Amino acid sequence: MIAEVCINYQDANVDRTFDYLVPEHFKEFVEVGKRVYVAFGVSNRVVEGLIVNVKNDTNVEKDKLKCILAVIDEIPVVSEEQIKLALSIKDYYALKLGQALELVIPPFVSNKEIYQISVQRTEHIDLEDEFLEVYNRIMKKPVLADSKFARENKEKIISLFLKGLLKYELRPLKDLEDKIENSLMQPHYTLTEEQNKALSTIKTAFDEGVYKNILLFGVTGSGKTEVYIQAMKYVVEKGKSVILMVPEISLTPQMIERVKNRLNTDVVVYHSKMSSTQRQVAWLKLKNGKAKVIIGPRSAIFAPAKEIGLIIVDEEHEPSYKSEKSPRINAVEVAQMRAKINSIPVVLGSATPTVEHYFWAISGKYILCSLKNRINMKMPDVFVVDMKKELLEGNRSIFSRLLLSEIEKNLQRKEQVLLFLNRRGYSPVVICRECGYVYMCKNCSISLTYHKTGYLKCHYCNYKEKYTGVCPKCGSKYMRQYGSGTQKIEDEIKMYFRDAKVLRVDRDTTTRKNAIEEIFNKFKQKEADILIGTQMIAKGLHFPDLTLVGVVNADTILNMPDFRSKERTFQLLTQVAGRAGREKQGRVIIQTFNPDDYSVVAASKHDYDSFFKEEIKLRKTLEYPPYVYIVNFLVVSHSERYAKKGIENVYRLLEECSKTTDAKIYGPSESPIFKVENQYRYHILVKFKKALQMIEVANKIKERYNYNNAELIIDINPWNTL
Ligand code: ADP
Ligand code: ZN
Ligand code: ZN
Repeated sequence: MIAEVCINYQDANVDRTFDYLVPEHFKEFVEVGKRVYVAFGVSNRVVEGLIVNVKNDTNVEKDKLKCILAVIDEIPVVSEEQIKLALSIKDYYALKLGQALELVIPPFVSNKEIYQISVQRTEHIDLEDEFLEVYNRIMKKPVLADSKFARENKEKIISLFLKGLLKYELRPLKDLEDKIENSLMQPHYTLTEEQNKALSTIKTAFDEGVYKNILLFGVTGSGKTEVYIQAMKYVVEKGKSVILMVPEISLTPQMIERVKNRLNTDVVVYHSKMSSTQRQVAWLKLKNGKAKVIIGPRSAIFAPAKEIGLIIVDEEHEPSYKSEKSPRINAVEVAQMRAKINSIPVVLGSATPTVEHYFWAISGKYILCSLKNRINMKMPDVFVVDMKKELLEGNRSIFSRLLLSEIEKNLQRKEQVLLFLNRRGYSPVVICRECGYVYMCKNCSISLTYHKTGYLKCHYCNYKEKYTGVCPKCGSKYMRQYGSGTQKIEDEIKMYFRDAKVLRVDRDTTTRKNAIEEIFNKFKQKEADILIGTQMIAKGLHFPDLTLVGVVNADTILNMPDFRSKERTFQLLTQVAGRAGREKQGRVIIQTFNPDDYSVVAASKHDYDSFFKEEIKLRKTLEYPPYVYIVNFLVVSHSERYAKKGIENVYRLLEECSKTTDAKIYGPSESPIFKVENQYRYHILVKFKKALQMIEVANKIKERYNYNNAELIIDINPWNTL
């Protein structure tokens, strides 16, 4: 029996394992996911390692093979299933082993707070004095493995451990039980025909025990959550657990309440902001199967769930599932990997599915379940205002006349207003205020961004042209870099409506903990008439008296230098519009310089299909996903020269590694946001026809890149390339 051990598994840079022989007397204790002590290197230093695989043979010569010295854990700190997941993630995203393991190993394991050293009584103790001192001290009172005492006497404790005189024990956690306050409630309605069909599709897939993607496509209020809950009930009653992924925990309190009220099991809310103690409680509950439901954002997909039967991803199109920091995993893809490992269904729910997922659904790779109608309410009425026309007719304000008069009406009726402003970090786009023209790249169909040097540049292919200040389409000189902030909107609103009470949600007003929740509560209690905000206010929330939504600038997303900009526009507009008139009939006003753009038109008509038809045509001709797979190689460094050198290295490696593939290489070029936190960034975008080729090439580049002056970040299926 051979154990494959990862030494220094807490170090993200570790990328290999070592084989160790398992002595006869350890065979029944050795298991994937347990930690062991092994001798390492020429000096035979005793180090801690994690078993990632158990196998029968090895390439190491017999006489060079060392033995495992001791098994530390009674139960694995990570399950075999989680290790399998980590290894899939490592391959798919071309990560180092340490980076992948970090995602599944709970942080308190490296802090060792949960482990306690306690004494294992033996008949006969014969120790040298210095050891005896340590031993007696521990005999008196067990010590925590990460305490000062334990750290200072590490070597001695390890050797006492190896002698079989000490053992590690899980620290029992008392008095931390969640009280279950809610009595279970069951609603008295019957499911609609569409809901029933979706539910039985999920049940069947679960019963069959096969990996399947089910796309649950339904507008807000069409009853998706009800389907999730009933499917979860079914799975939990069969003794399996469920992971329910949500885009952001602070915006989903209502959903969590609903799930807790309906399911007869502990519900664990799992997220990265949990305290260490909360995490340990959750970890133990999940590990022993006491809690069978996990709700959480991105990190919840790595939860130590026992015997998973179903994974649900709510709002599967949300960008927050994709990590913007390295490692750049996408929790939706990870959910799919985990579902595949466990042979279970994964439900992707959305009112505005990603173009890729809808494409797979209609082409039969995924199962499509649609909920076409809202249950209790009508869709809001949407009006699109052409801001070019406003300008021509003499209105230079940020607000159209229609929006102003509708706000006035709402204030008189004492109904609330939400003003949405899109503002994301991106380079400025130049727009013609007379004809709406936006500079586009000749090669990429991506908008060009303005640089202070007086050039317009494409960040996909490095194309550039001189900026003249005159619109090439209509000759107008009213060219303008577009973008205004929430503060400015608030100031202007106060000019028009002196007595209105205004709340603002943006980075400045939400730095304090719980600030968002407080603002939302105030608004809900009707302590304000108008709420102004960015993306943060787009999703999830439900305000009964909110009947008017104004989208101040639909164009800023539309003009982002990214192939997903139309999709994001459609999704955001649909989502923001969904905030209006949840109980009373709502109105939505979209202000735009591009009223004829298909993403705006389709959103205003609540028409996903027509949006999809246009978008998929474009994706095909311009070669974007789902027709190709994209990987972005990003190189960053504090020195511009190093970053450049690094990306040149990647380029050379790419030429070597992609010879036998159909890779199309774009770049190297500066990243759209060239300097972030004093780091310079260069990138190369590569398109592949086959996913497997992409993964193979990405892994080769990862292994061969060895330029230490600049960090290489590999972004598989990038969400954006900023
Ligand atoms: P979604 O998740 O798609 O936004 P929900 O599941 O929250 O939709 O349903 C919207 C509202 O309709 C909720 O208040 C829910 O309790 C209610 N509802 C859901 N299904 C039914 C049904 N079959 N009959 C009556 N009301 C329902
Ligand atoms: Zn023009
Ligand atoms: Zn280009």
